[in-house]
Amino acid sequence: MPDIIRLLPDSIANQIAAGEVIQRPASAVKELMENAVDAGASNIQVIVKDSGKSLIQVIDDGSGMTETDARMSFERHATSKIRTAEDLFVIRTMGFRGEALASIAAVAQVEMKTRTADSELGTLLLIEGSEVKKQEPVAAPKGTSIAVRNLFFNVPARRNFLKSNPVEMKHIIEEFQRTALANPEIEFSLYHNDLEVYNLKKGKLSHRIIGLFGKQYREQLAVCREETPVMNVRGYLGKPEFSKKTRGEQFFFVNKRYIKNAYLNHAVKIGYENLIPDDCHPFYVLFIDIDPRHIDVNVHPTKTEIKFDDERTVYGIIKSAVRQSLGAHNIAPSLDFSHNANIHVNLDTGEVLSRDFSTRQDYYDEKAALLKTEKDRNNRLNWDRIYEFTNPSLERSGIQHDWNKKDEGIEVRLSSAANDMPDAKNEFEAGQTRMTFQVQNKYIVATVKSGLLLVDQQSAHERILYEKYMSALAHKPAASQQALFPETIELNPVDFTLALDLKPEIEAVGFVFDIFGKNSIIVHGTPVELEGENIKKAFEGLIEQYKLNKSELSLNKRESMARAMAKQTSIKAGKALTGEEMNSLIDQLFACANPNYDPNGKLTFAILDTEKIDGFLNR
Ligand code: ADP
Ligand code: MG
Repeated sequence: MPDIIRLLPDSIANQIAAGEVIQRPASAVKELMENAVDAGASNIQVIVKDSGKSLIQVIDDGSGMTETDARMSFERHATSKIRTAEDLFVIRTMGFRGEALASIAAVAQVEMKTRTADSELGTLLLIEGSEVKKQEPVAAPKGTSIAVRNLFFNVPARRNFLKSNPVEMKHIIEEFQRTALANPEIEFSLYHNDLEVYNLKKGKLSHRIIGLFGKQYREQLAVCREETPVMNVRGYLGKPEFSKKTRGEQFFFVNKRYIKNAYLNHAVKIGYENLIPDDCHPFYVLFIDIDPRHIDVNVHPTKTEIKFDDERTVYGIIKSAVRQSLGAHNIAPSLDFSHNANIHVNLDTGEVLSRDFSTRQDYYDEKAALLKTEKDRNNRLNWDRIYEFTNPSLERSGIQHDWNKKDEGIEVRLSSAANDMPDAKNEFEAGQTRMTFQVQNKYIVATVKSGLLLVDQQSAHERILYEKYMSALAHKPAASQQALFPETIELNPVDFTLALDLKPEIEAVGFVFDIFGKNSIIVHGTPVELEGENIKKAFEGLIEQYKLNKSELSLNKRESMARAMAKQTSIKAGKALTGEEMNSLIDQLFACANPNYDPNGKLTFAILDTEKIDGFLNR
């Protein structure tokens, strides 16, 4: 039998490697930005077109490369960043595998211009699918510019696999944010389709955060700082009330390298314990400085995963740092945190020993208890209000009732009564006046043929609006009301891109808007349901709810939009309604294709027939 094993040609080996390193335009953005940082640049410009699908260009004013280095840089395993195996364990640069440029050049058309400070002419290199097409001297500023065109032009399967422009742009913006956060001493700018997305001056980390996420973050940041013999933690935490339903805007950097680590994320969340609801996520930007010997960054080609040799200690220190920071900022009433209380780590067991750790635990227990009493008190307040509304005469006469108890009893039976799905459409008698009233400003009660109809006003309205918006999205756009004073809204770049992509859907549900400068839109018209409401809040709420529906329920565009709008514009529990409004709501509900459930699958109504009423009263 002849020998059959052969070495793969470089171009194929590079393409295979590219599959690991370059998954989408954002990966190329990340690698090119990191190279620019490693080259000591003080200004880095990122230019993309079509969410990076047609162009990604990164221009830096760093060291530049000699002619030979320029050529070498595209070879696989060509790197200037490690020389000996020992170097691997003390990596401080972003790159070191020497794979990025080779991988990018294997799957795109790349043009590099580069010049070092001490040479007069620079080098121009054109490479397409790993093949050098041109190499010649060129006049160029000091530094390096790399333009990557038509990514995956020669790997159609990959190119077809790319997501929509807003999704790819979201990934690019996220990579940009990570690199920009890790390097506030460098100026960065980002342009998409000739529109400026970011233009960041150099400065402190807090300025960088505000530059990236918006002015409203200024008031919301709490400093977090902890120094221990094992590692240092520094950065900022968002105040608890600033937490959001959608995850994101959570950044961990280890030795300036962005990492994803669910375990450490959990440590932060636990640090916030009791201060934010379970389904909310805090904002944070935290930097861990640790001796590179205690970590292994080499576990994943895209290098966002990392191994610590002692993860439990790192966890404990972070949790404790977060608690201390929130306490020290009086975000939670501070008991006896001493501001520079050092955390003592037992290096043998990894246990975190802090001298007031037990006090802190006590404090959090107490905080939990406090929150609970607060809740009870609020509940009581509500009950007082109901008592006042429904029984003014009783109140005046001073008769005391345990309304709380009584109502709980009824509620239990009502939910069981709702199990057999009633068909309420036959319950209304033509021409008969329907008696209605509201309970707790939450439920509508109406008299019907067989007894009492109980409607959850918010669920019912969400159902009505959901069907209306679904039909608006399918064929006939919803009515829009021209705004008296058009409002400009500044969005974050991710939401801005999303809003532009969703323009047809957003307009179908009644918002009319145009681009209005950098990351801004101007809203000329709003859905009629939003009359008198804060436009900015409603629009932002819509985008937020849309993202939540999309990510958590994986709904399609229309579903996500219709549900988000229904939720955003519905009558909420707590709103007092007139008799006319109640009747109209009931009529509209039963005109729905599926009146029984709201879009979240909750029952919209139940019928309490005479039989059940008899049961309650033991007849
Ligand atoms: P790595 O960053 O892992 O070393 P890359 O393929 O990203 O591998 O880059 C290869 C080499 O090319 C780098 O080690 C560096 O010497 C050089 N290089 C890449 N980009 C730049 C740049 N923007 N400025 C200067 N040198 C660069
Ligand atoms: Mg690199």
